[in-house]
Amino acid sequence: MPQPSLKIDHARYILTLDRQRRIIQDGAILVENGRISRVGKAAELRDARADRTIDARHMVVTPGFFNGHMHISYAHPVRGIFPDEQASPLVHVFNLQAAMTEEEEYHTTLLGLVELVRNGTVCFLDPGSTKFPDACLQAYEDAGIRVILGECVTDQPAPFTLPRYPAPEAVARTTSFIGKWNGRLEGRIRAWAMPFSHETCSAGLLETLKRVADEHQTGLTLHHNSGNKARQEMVARHGHTPTAYLESIGVLGSNVLLAHCLGLDEAELDCIARTRASVAMCPVTAGKGGRGVPDHGRMPELLARGVAVALGCDSPNNSNHLDMVRTMNMAAIQYKDARQDTGKIPAEAALEMATIRGAEAMGLGAELGSIEAGKKADLVAFDTLRPEWQALWNPLNNLVYNADGRSVHTVVIDGRVVVDAYRQTFVDEPRLYARVQEIGERLQARTGISFPRSRWPMS
Ligand SMILES: [Zn+2]
Repeated sequence: MPQPSLKIDHARYILTLDRQRRIIQDGAILVENGRISRVGKAAELRDARADRTIDARHMVVTPGFFNGHMHISYAHPVRGIFPDEQASPLVHVFNLQAAMTEEEEYHTTLLGLVELVRNGTVCFLDPGSTKFPDACLQAYEDAGIRVILGECVTDQPAPFTLPRYPAPEAVARTTSFIGKWNGRLEGRIRAWAMPFSHETCSAGLLETLKRVADEHQTGLTLHHNSGNKARQEMVARHGHTPTAYLESIGVLGSNVLLAHCLGLDEAELDCIARTRASVAMCPVTAGKGGRGVPDHGRMPELLARGVAVALGCDSPNNSNHLDMVRTMNMAAIQYKDARQDTGKIPAEAALEMATIRGAEAMGLGAELGSIEAGKKADLVAFDTLRPEWQALWNPLNNLVYNADGRSVHTVVIDGRVVVDAYRQTFVDEPRLYARVQEIGERLQARTGISFPRSRWPMS
């Protein structure tokens, strides 16, 4: 059965993110069979008829948002339990993760998806957190979202609980995961190789997983927290910086996405650009986690070298929120402050990372990330009849500096309306919230991982 067609009509602004970065006032978009068939001035599309027309005269329409590093699974039921001074909660994070049951992960995933789509995210990459993808498949299908999945593997000791296998088993698991999952849900699911990091995986494992990704024409992502300490250790062990080490073992390339990437030196920046690897940076995690963006953040230099940089939210216990609009805001303001230079990361660069550059970083730029005829129809319409959107002169500045995801009115993925006038229809939210709160109670009781609820007396 053909999909119903959709027309977005009389949009106040369409931020196309096409090659010319056109901004169309009083614009219209026609969506047929899940793809954008026409985009232009409303007057030019006057003759276009569709099964459904959305009056967008008070809306700003953008491409859907891409979240390049987003651990979904354990965190929602225990969001906010870590006190600020808990410098690195990672040991607890992975113990909580390991304790999740299938039923718990399904519900917490649902909550993650609700938060993602209601804030305009159309695609996210989960770096191997999901333990029970079979159980979560229904949630992905119901939400209509795009997801890049993989099985997290390591073969070396780690300071926290990570899935560890002999290298041949890690390779076999990855290969069968990709075979089983890649391309499902009409292509909305992609499966990648997901070694955790170069510290927790042998060179042989990383090298083989890169080859598996190449053979399956898919991607590979890993955590790449560089920085002075990691660099010194790596140079002592292998005679290379962490990035040069990856290059030396053949694990960089256009299908490789490096997550976090703080503390890169000049040669590492050049190496990433030369090998056409991509990067996913998590500005809110970096800021909230006190990672020292003024010293270690190299986002402007990566962008200046033409590297495809995606933004990520990391997890609901790192950035805490899954709102790409707030993430764009943090990226844009963080570097102005860090460098004491208001020219760093303009609003345009922030929106590019959340859309077209993010899609490119995730290997999806040919089909997604901009509003152009022929591309898949993934769209977000912001409601500007709200105080934070007024007055409206420059929609980019209003989006990145004034707004947040709460003004997302409509979200379209693959031509389907998945958020309609602020509402998603795949789950009963109050019931889900109660369920996830209950899971959080159970999880803390079961693992013994809990913290004083507040520094202030709570009665
Ligand atoms: Zn991560």
